[in-house]
Amino acid sequence: MSMNKAEKTCYMCEKLATSVEHIPPQCLFPEQKDLPDGIDLRKQLLTVPSCDEHNSKKSQDDEYFLYSLVMLINSNKVARNQYFSKIKRAIKRNPSLLKKFTDASSPVKMQNSQTGAISNTRAFHLDEDRFNGIIDRLGRALYYKHFNEKCYNHIKYQAEYLLATIDPKNSYELNKPIQETSEQADGWFSNSKYYGENPEVFKYQVLEGNQSKIMRLHFYKGNRLLLIFKQNS
Ligand SMILES: [Zn+2]
Repeated sequence: MSMNKAEKTCYMCEKLATSVEHIPPQCLFPEQKDLPDGIDLRKQLLTVPSCDEHNSKKSQDDEYFLYSLVMLINSNKVARNQYFSKIKRAIKRNPSLLKKFTDASSPVKMQNSQTGAISNTRAFHLDEDRFNGIIDRLGRALYYKHFNEKCYNHIKYQAEYLLATIDPKNSYELNKPIQETSEQADGWFSNSKYYGENPEVFKYQVLEGNQSKIMRLHFYKGNRLLLIFKQNS
């Protein structure tokens, strides 16, 4: 692809780009030194041009997002590997980082969508504003990368793995709608192609309708997130 002036502005705004933003954050992809010999999970990482303000690396949101994912029960062994290597090092450097997460947790019941089994687990309370900002930028970056146009509309999202409540008594009932949406999405996307060269870490799918476009993002195999984009008018 040739670079023209338009491609050098930030994926989020009209400022000139000064760096690149990785989609999703680069820290989600293990470094080769943290993996068994020969495995490369940083193949052809996706990037978009970014200004300083909209580069998530500079705000430490990347680390926050990584923590929020690797602790999920549906994450695969690549995620756990990231926890035991990269995150352990980060915690050693700055113990208060992880503490912010683990202090804010409480028990919940979750149903496995495949087996129907209900298990007891713990939910981590996310900083909602921060998480919304992270997903918004991630969505705009991926949209720009995939469709080669900037998204200026509001983006709705549904993290299929996030629990709606931390109240242990009725978390199961309240989380049912999320699980139902997730099951519906399994149907919508059952024949959709996967994009992404490192599917163990991240892959995504795309559906294009008349009114909207939907993307389904898969992190560490088991954690899915829907992004709903209204068509640019
Ligand atoms: Zn920008």
